[in-house]
Amino acid sequence: MPGRRNVATGPVVHRTARIGLRLTRAQRQRCFGLLRAGGDVWACVLEINAWHRRRGDKPVAGFPELCGLLSASGPGTFGELDSAGARSVLRRYSDAWFSAAARRRAGHHEVRYPRRRRALMPIRWYHGTFTVCRRQVRLPAARGCPPVLVRLDRTVPYPPGTVRSVTLLFDAGRLWLDVTAELPVATYPPGTGPDPGRVAGVDLGIIHPYAAANPADGTGLLISGRAIRAEHRLHLADTKARRRATARRAPSPGQRGSRRWRKMRRRARLVEARHHRRTRQALHEATTTLISWAVEQRIGTLTVGDPRGVLDKPAGRRHNLRLRQWQLGRTLHILQDKAALAGIRVHLVDERGTSSTCPACHQKISKPRGRTMTCPHCRFAGHRDLAAAFTIATRTQGGATTTPANPCSGVVTHRRAGRHLPGAGPARRDPRRRPPRPAALGSLGRRRPAPPLPVGSRSLTPVNEDPQHHRTQPGQRSWTPH
Ligand SMILES: [Zn+2]
Repeated sequence: MPGRRNVATGPVVHRTARIGLRLTRAQRQRCFGLLRAGGDVWACVLEINAWHRRRGDKPVAGFPELCGLLSASGPGTFGELDSAGARSVLRRYSDAWFSAAARRRAGHHEVRYPRRRRALMPIRWYHGTFTVCRRQVRLPAARGCPPVLVRLDRTVPYPPGTVRSVTLLFDAGRLWLDVTAELPVATYPPGTGPDPGRVAGVDLGIIHPYAAANPADGTGLLISGRAIRAEHRLHLADTKARRRATARRAPSPGQRGSRRWRKMRRRARLVEARHHRRTRQALHEATTTLISWAVEQRIGTLTVGDPRGVLDKPAGRRHNLRLRQWQLGRTLHILQDKAALAGIRVHLVDERGTSSTCPACHQKISKPRGRTMTCPHCRFAGHRDLAAAFTIATRTQGGATTTPANPCSGVVTHRRAGRHLPGAGPARRDPRRRPPRPAALGSLGRRRPAPPLPVGSRSLTPVNEDPQHHRTQPGQRSWTPH
């Protein structure tokens, strides 16, 4: 049940933040108890529907019927889990069942109904059943049980009063609370907000996750994704090395793994989760950069070239890996979410041929191999991805944009995604870089103070003489036997 809200307020969007939990041992056990009870609810529904199927009856999948079964089961069936939390599991089942049914009706017969049991099931509580006070969250429990108090490891990043639901879940070896808030779409003082008539083209890519171009004044934004790509490569190399080192010790099927093996598996899962967090964070930051650039330029429409046509073609082992690591669907999703919050519209258009069309004279030219596109017809030269973004901007539906008078003539802003990733040092052209080291220093390593001399003794080296360079004749020994 979504909470009631004032209809008079403007458009809203829903956003979710995943927040870690700081728990005592007892709180941890109660949280796991709730998740396990959720898994029991899920397993019960699967079991009931298996009986129905064997008898040839219609399955029970509607949310009201499932809730009827739950209330008929009486209190105390699912441990400390309250009815609101148990109903969230039923809602999840019902949604999964009906979406599978719809897709099967549409001809996708490989889609299956929910059938896997899960030990731990995420539990969601809706507005009004829980309270959030700074970092303390009070989750409801079954009647007769005290509420479950948990502490968040950071404050909720949304204004108070906007939180609509919380979800307790176990992921990547940790307990989390997903906090979902209902946020109003950004409003701007009159005359400063994004103007839907101002259009920018956006080209998506691997080396540059976003290349955006504003054809009105020829300015552009280039976001480098090399750090993200490096993170993917390092992670892959790391995983491969770990697999190679441990494959010999893997337990055979059916055999119980050793404690050491389980520890290794746990470590591998944690590393995998960290890699996903890192790349996702970098993508979010890159998108935020793009959206703030658009807001600054008062751009109200982003025309995005959709390259998903290329993904269906088999492109060979190497390129397939590149495309998989690109995470295009996620990129588009994040872009649409952040644009909606900022009040910017996003249009997807076909990007075919944009990287082999001159943005100035619109003639077909051969696709450039490097990063720079040069046109033999009109002497245009500019960044390949930016040129594609200028061409994409002209494909906006419903009204042609102002034709770029001179593409790439304005200021091109360069930003880098994933600056927090390990190994991503300061850029060569980063104005905040450290002052250059004096050239004469060479590579002497870290400078350390000289060790103190022992009391009552003198240095064996005469003063004013360099110990490194004894003035010895060639062939003459500086060492004298005792
Ligand atoms: Zn040209």
